[in-house]
Amino acid sequence: AKRSGENEIDFFREKIQQKAVKIVKLRNKLQEAIKNKEFTLFYQPYYDVKTQQIAGAESLLRWIHDGKVIPPLEFIDVLENSNLIMDVEEQIIQEAIKTIASLKREIPISINISPKSFKRDYIVPFIKETLNEYNIRGELLTIEIVERVFLENTEYTKTIMERLRNFGIKIAVDDFGTGYSSLTYIKELPIDIIKIDMSFIRNMVSSEKDLKLVKLIIDIARQFDLKTIAEGVETQEQFNILREMGCNYIQGYLFSKPLNKETFQKLLK
Ligand code: C2E
Ligand code: CA
Ligand code: CA
Ligand code: CA
Repeated sequence: AKRSGENEIDFFREKIQQKAVKIVKLRNKLQEAIKNKEFTLFYQPYYDVKTQQIAGAESLLRWIHDGKVIPPLEFIDVLENSNLIMDVEEQIIQEAIKTIASLKREIPISINISPKSFKRDYIVPFIKETLNEYNIRGELLTIEIVERVFLENTEYTKTIMERLRNFGIKIAVDDFGTGYSSLTYIKELPIDIIKIDMSFIRNMVSSEKDLKLVKLIIDIARQFDLKTIAEGVETQEQFNILREMGCNYIQGYLFSKPLNKETFQKLLK
């Protein structure tokens, strides 16, 4: 019995080692990718529920490697668990603002900022400088953050949010409802937009509880003068329900997938 126990430990040790080696290899590749500027942004428009016109777009990170487009799922954790995410995010901020300046029509563009970057001192001046460089109004930029950001250091988080808002930049809470954080931040923090998580939208049609939850989120948002964006809207049925409930904007494959920059620019002509 003892021997098989040791074998089991060896087995797991080997598994853990294999995993660690994989992560280190990926991290090295990502470091190269940053140097070689292999990261790019795709843009997914979101639509006004009433007019069904494009009201803005979210920028989404892609890694172009060996001719393949690699989505964040495959590398974002490794980026976020190392300090590499901050280098990537500097590139993202510049690229997104450059894109705003290139568009034929003025619409707000959202960027996703990881909790780690959000709390770095340089983030606010860096965004401000980049906006100035391209002569872009803060109103055209939205920062998406997840609820996890509010869990610790609330006062400092609030300061950063207020500084961004002083430039006209809007703050969106991403994946709303999945973060286990207290709802009181809604009244205490300067928030503009709530993004209703895809999981609720997906289950809403089959589950009465999810339906009620989505309705509740939209009602709360309205009470607090916040806008709502529903994520991952894939069917007409979901769209109809959301319109009925008074959701402001919808984002999802029903209207558009994330597009490369050129396709997105053409869409706005
Ligand atoms: P997220 O911010 O919640 O982004 C929404 C994700 O849902 C995107 O996946 C988008 O392509 C996908 N999506 C949109 N509409 C639909 C739909 O109708 N159906 C389905 N099944 N999916 C839909 P993506 O681009 O793979 O990004 C995944 C996550 O990676 C993002 O989730 C975000 O957390 C992170 N991420 C993406 N770009 C960045 C970035 O620039 N910086 C940081 N820090 N994180 C990023
Ligand atoms: Ca997002
Ligand atoms: Ca989201
Ligand atoms: Ca997410």
